[in-house]
Amino acid sequence: MDFYCDQVVPGITPVDIVAETPEVLAFHHTRPYWPLHIVVIPKRHISSLAALEEGEMAIVQQMLAVAADICREVTAKEGGCRLSTNCGDHQTTKHLHFYIHSGSRLRDEHGNSIPQDNQP
Ligand SMILES: [Zn+2]
Repeated sequence: MDFYCDQVVPGITPVDIVAETPEVLAFHHTRPYWPLHIVVIPKRHISSLAALEEGEMAIVQQMLAVAADICREVTAKEGGCRLSTNCGDHQTTKHLHFYIHSGSRLRDEHGNSIPQDNQP
């Protein structure tokens, strides 16, 4: 299952778009893991950073350009943020995506809620 190619890019699952270019889409995660959780994806299928193929680096650069703008805005508003990507067993959806997030984690990697009073 490739949620991004199957649902998000064709517009079947509506998303709250943060930024869009001809090649890249950034939107608020539909089930956020952090209070602020933005997803940046290429509109065409790329499987992961670890499995990048010939010619795909140009799209990654475009993703980073979009991410940089978002990071700048989030940092100005929230004070800071983190950018991450998952590969291999850590990657649930096998379509390259960057996460930009800030705040205390709300859910673990299995999607289970993390009690907020247990956070430092
Ligand atoms: Zn895909």
